[in-house]
Amino acid sequence: MRKKLIAGNWKMNGSLVANEILIKSLLAGVGTPVCQVALCVPAAYLAQCHSLLNGSGIDLGAQDVSQHEVGAFTGEISCAMLKEFGARYCLVGHSERRQYHFETDSVVALKAQRALASGITPIVCVGETLAEREAGRTEEVVKRQLAAVIHANGHCISEIVLAYEPVWAIGTGKTASAEQAQQVHAVLRAQLKAASSQADRIRLLYGGSMNAANAAQLLAQADIDGGLIGGASLKAPDFLSIIASVN
Ligand code: PEP
Repeated sequence: MRKKLIAGNWKMNGSLVANEILIKSLLAGVGTPVCQVALCVPAAYLAQCHSLLNGSGIDLGAQDVSQHEVGAFTGEISCAMLKEFGARYCLVGHSERRQYHFETDSVVALKAQRALASGITPIVCVGETLAEREAGRTEEVVKRQLAAVIHANGHCISEIVLAYEPVWAIGTGKTASAEQAQQVHAVLRAQLKAASSQADRIRLLYGGSMNAANAAQLLAQADIDGGLIGGASLKAPDFLSIIASVN
């Protein structure tokens, strides 16, 4: 049985003051959730969030990591550094990284490999653009993105978390319907099953304008094992009600 995971992606939002208010509100309201909960915060705030979350049931995650281990890579952050601040998860290949920072499938696969080798669980993001969906290319695109990660990671693939995030649904208020999301998740699950006998363990998150109103229906789908939540993770009541909708 896969334990569901609700992960917040703060993106480039927050401040020392706002983070403290948000985390304290989450800790006050979260109770004992039936799912796992994580916050993927900006790197600059890992230390602060690590100390605020320490000993709580909420895990810490980063939003990106270098594919390199150490050395002359100005501006980059290594897995070892993330580990020092208690990061359990790291987003890899978010569509904003692919789009604005030109991360290719092979770079994403190397980042996932580096994270796994360091004991950090990569949350690997895949998803099609609106043009790709309209051209009937959704399956081809997500399968290509996942194939690169499977190829680089071999049997370790069962240790990843996979997030299906249709690009057209991220930050737009347009959510994939539960049926649309489940259909793609089933395709991804089948691809994982062909690669690993442990594929049933892998959590597949849906991300893209998930909110308090649509979470329950999405999370009830057979192959949707949680959510990756951007905008709604910045508001404690909204994020808490998504967590509460997991059963
Ligand atoms: C995301 O950034 O991963 C995301 C899903 O954002 P939003 O929930 O705001 O669409």
